[in-house]
Amino acid sequence: MNRTANRSEGRPPAFSYREVRKGFLRRRPIGTTLSCDEIPLERLAERYGTPLYVYSASAIRERMDSFEHAFRKVPHTICYSVKANSNLGILQLLAGIGCGFDVVSGGELERVLRVDRRAAKRVVFSGVGKTSEEMQAALKAGVMLFNVESESELWRLAECAARTREKARIALRVNPDVPANTHPYISTGLQQHKFGIPLSKARKLYAQASGTKYLRIAGVSVHIGSQITDVQPFALTMERVAELVRVLQDDGHRIQYVDAGGGLGIDYQDPSPQEFARPAAEYAAALLRPLRGLKVHLLLEPGRSIVGPAGALLTRVLYRKTNGPKQFLVVDAAMNDLVRPSLYDAYHEIVPARLDVNSARHETVDVVGPICESGDFFARGRELPVVNEGELLAILDAGAYGMVLASNYNTRPRPAEVLVDGKSVKVIRRRETMDDLLRLETRLS
Ligand SMILES: *Cc1c(COP(=O)(O)O)cnc(C)c1O
Repeated sequence: MNRTANRSEGRPPAFSYREVRKGFLRRRPIGTTLSCDEIPLERLAERYGTPLYVYSASAIRERMDSFEHAFRKVPHTICYSVKANSNLGILQLLAGIGCGFDVVSGGELERVLRVDRRAAKRVVFSGVGKTSEEMQAALKAGVMLFNVESESELWRLAECAARTREKARIALRVNPDVPANTHPYISTGLQQHKFGIPLSKARKLYAQASGTKYLRIAGVSVHIGSQITDVQPFALTMERVAELVRVLQDDGHRIQYVDAGGGLGIDYQDPSPQEFARPAAEYAAALLRPLRGLKVHLLLEPGRSIVGPAGALLTRVLYRKTNGPKQFLVVDAAMNDLVRPSLYDAYHEIVPARLDVNSARHETVDVVGPICESGDFFARGRELPVVNEGELLAILDAGAYGMVLASNYNTRPRPAEVLVDGKSVKVIRRRETMDDLLRLETRLS
């Protein structure tokens, strides 16, 4: 009940409970419904169907503002990490407020270019396996920075740059060997991971790169993982990066950029209302202290912390089901729509879209999808207000690594996505149809 109460104070302007009134002068309260900005989620579900991703534009803007504010004292560019949520509508919203982008594939670069060609000069290109084609596309677009992850990639990029006669501005992504205390699948800053170049090797590689006609050394880059809620690993990483920057500057390299990567986590368990300003400030302090005295332009690549809490996945209860001692809610969303619980055993808060007199009654349930795998769940042993078949649930904090990881497993069309901005609603991706799913396949004759 605490969580629900928490939520009713809301995390304005995104998802909060509002009282709905009816009748003459709206005197008669008929219940309390969860809304995204000004729009009741129930109305969105009726109009666009379920499962449905709903995002709040104002929540995204607010989080960007908090980030900007936290770093206001230093020259910086926020390069939103496209992989967290790559919908064109979201990218357009961010491009419109001057945001840069971090892309990890030619496909993500293409999305940014389609939204705003001029945003290329605020794009950093990361990733361990860039192909020649992707490099050439990025060179042609004129991206701000390549984050190079290996010696082989460096020489490949030099070749591509020579061929296109475009100078490639580079940073080496170094591996600081710092543990990030997050899920092992999304921890990237240890020597055992495939990411980055060991700090000890970086200096020599910078020296080699500096002798190449089409490579221009521009910075040092790092990214230690995702969903990191303790700022200490960020501070330790920046200490190591700052040390390297000093060494490189002494060697005569011009280090214009320090790219601190992304990874700032969000509180999925117990999100407190309006509380992004403080973690953003703590994060900024941890990054900035070690960089003091260095004349560099800071690049930041947040993904989850910008869009995560700004999105929810709406789903309806199809069936209530009891197996022995266990109570299940079978809902119409599944692991193909939101895989985080199955993949990372991730926690997502789940709340009913409507609170009524029954909401005081709680029960312990597993919330599961229709897919033929026991791993298809959103919550296990979760205490929830009692909800009936046909009622609407909101799976919160689903704005990052939700839709981007969705699949068509079990031949399930992927959900629609809508962006709410105050009183306006825009469908930013329509629901897939069966024809969409089958279009690329051919029968034998
Ligand atoms: C995934 C990724 C990010 C974004 O991480 P978040 O945890 O979503 O902030 C930033 N930079 C790189 C290189 C990444 O791979």
